[in-house]
Amino acid sequence: MNSPNQKSSEKTKIIIKKTNKGDKGPEGNSIVSYIVSVLIMFIVLSALYSFVSGKTEKKAENIPISELAADIKSGVVKNIIVKGDVLLVEYTSGDEKTSKKETDVALSQTLVNYSVTKEQLALISINIKEESSLSYWLMNLAPIIFPILFIFVFIWFISRQVKGAGIQALTFGQSKARMIDPNDKNSRVTFKDVAGCKEAKEELAEIVDFLRNPKKFLDIGARIPKGILLMGPPGSGKTLLARAVSGEAGVAFFSISGSEFVEMFVGVGASRVRDLFLLAKKNAPAIIFVDEIDAVGRIRGAGLGGGNDEREQTLNQILVEMDGFEPNEKVIVMAATNRPDVLDPALLRPGRFDRRVTLDLPDRKDREDILIVHSKEKPFAEDVNLKVIAERTPGFSGADLYSLMNEGAILAARENRTTVAQYDLIRSIEKVMLGPERKSHILSKKEKEITAYHEAGHAVLASLLPYADPVHKISIIARGHAAGYVLKLPLEDSRMQSKKEFLDDIAVSLGGYVTEKLLFDDLTTGPSNDLQVSTALARDMVTKYGMSDVLGPVALEGQGGKVLFGRGVEEKEFSQKVAADIDSEVSRIMREAHEKAKKVITENRSLLDAIAKRLIEKETIERMEFETILVAHGITPKQKLDIEHQV
Ligand code: ADP
Ligand code: MG
Ligand code: ZN
Repeated sequence: MNSPNQKSSEKTKIIIKKTNKGDKGPEGNSIVSYIVSVLIMFIVLSALYSFVSGKTEKKAENIPISELAADIKSGVVKNIIVKGDVLLVEYTSGDEKTSKKETDVALSQTLVNYSVTKEQLALISINIKEESSLSYWLMNLAPIIFPILFIFVFIWFISRQVKGAGIQALTFGQSKARMIDPNDKNSRVTFKDVAGCKEAKEELAEIVDFLRNPKKFLDIGARIPKGILLMGPPGSGKTLLARAVSGEAGVAFFSISGSEFVEMFVGVGASRVRDLFLLAKKNAPAIIFVDEIDAVGRIRGAGLGGGNDEREQTLNQILVEMDGFEPNEKVIVMAATNRPDVLDPALLRPGRFDRRVTLDLPDRKDREDILIVHSKEKPFAEDVNLKVIAERTPGFSGADLYSLMNEGAILAARENRTTVAQYDLIRSIEKVMLGPERKSHILSKKEKEITAYHEAGHAVLASLLPYADPVHKISIIARGHAAGYVLKLPLEDSRMQSKKEFLDDIAVSLGGYVTEKLLFDDLTTGPSNDLQVSTALARDMVTKYGMSDVLGPVALEGQGGKVLFGRGVEEKEFSQKVAADIDSEVSRIMREAHEKAKKVITENRSLLDAIAKRLIEKETIERMEFETILVAHGITPKQKLDIEHQV
């Protein structure tokens, strides 16, 4: 019986849910609510209209005026009430009937026209009643009012859309922070969910301890850091780790991203900061997490354009709030950035974000652990060996590994298998690294030959130059933007690179270019990315790492803190002469690498041909097969990693 009721309450719930999600912006749910409110207004008004206008027409029988005239003549009518054009006729028998007269003509006149005599008329009483004013107005004005009303509602609706942001400004000022309730078991993240990051977790354990039991620290007079800055490349788990801290400590977690502070209206960012801190203090102990703080925390006074003032105010407000903390307030601010180099020094001074926790890209062991974390709930085939996957994914971030696992599962599901196999994961590595295969990208015979030689050129150099990373796989199946690719794997996970490695890397990058030029006496657009990458590397060697003898041990790179029209502009703090020196050094490095590459390719022409031929035939060569080609040409493959590769 009450099922319709339940349904409607369900509906309300859904609408409420939607509005809660509304921190994405005014669009979407508000359009729905506008339409709903307009519809409701329409329904209410039309109901009112029909109610009022319908009231006069009682259930009484309606008779034509001619019949009424006849009845009057026969003397059975007792009285008539005239209400506008409507006639309520009461008979001597007690019956009531209604009728209608012509508009603008008096009833008596009408009846006389129907040959009712004056005497007969005198016998009945005729009451003329004013129409009730409401119904009168409604009846007469509704046809005019309704369209006008609609036009107004329409205009109002449209104008709200247009200046949505303006109206939004009235409603916010409140922080847009999302709060994660410590008691919400479903979204709770703990240190267990964060693999690797051992040092970072150790650092943060102290914070967890404080949040769990602040008294211990306060009693002994210890001051707990107010701000913790998590630094690390994108996807290395900064956000995850911050949430884990709150999960471990069981405190409320308010998260807002730096860019959410900076919206269209000046002053809003600052007031949001105030609000956020107030909110957090109310819920103390709590963690405030400002994600991507570099959006507001860039070096001040180092930019052009309007957005800057707003940023400064927001940043100032953050600093003021942090300074205003009482030591016993039990609110800790965490922030994350992948650009610590552009942060304002004021943020980093003691008493603010003085604790800095660095997250690195995971090494081999950590990668394996992360894979294990994300393999929960994924049924694996027997052959899955996460160690091998971890080993083949140097440079992958936690987020990449997560997406690798996911891609693997998707591949298995697409092929209607119930378990994820090793082969799925291996294919996913390349997909995550280079984008999906473009099988539809069909090469002409000539293109295929050029691509094969291009990639073979890279491969020959990677195998023969002593400091280059060995080849793992070569393919001429297009992927993402690349027409073909050579996967290389470092012999070990190393954090540091040497000048010799850089030089060999540049030469390997030029392998495709050199080969195309040498063999086809022509160039395609294929090597353009190779050239970009290697030139940038050469430039970094000169300006960042002090690897040029001409310029010597100087870092000439600007801090990159300036923003002009939304783009970073390098600040040049050196003279024209130095700039010219840099250019000539970069081109020298490139030239020498080119010579080296050319020499190796020419001397190993038969190897190059063999690899290219095999590529044209098979499109993909895996490491094992590649190494047999090397051995056949009298070259010892570079030492393998300690773990055997299995595919
Ligand atoms: P960011 O450093 O860019 O804030 P996130 O914390 O958002 O990176 O990480 C994105 C996703 O990558 C996480 O949701 C998680 O699934 C995965 N991830 C990153 N690092 C780790 C890690 N150390 N352990 C487990 N998963 C991780
Ligand atoms: Mg993040
Ligand atoms: Zn190339």
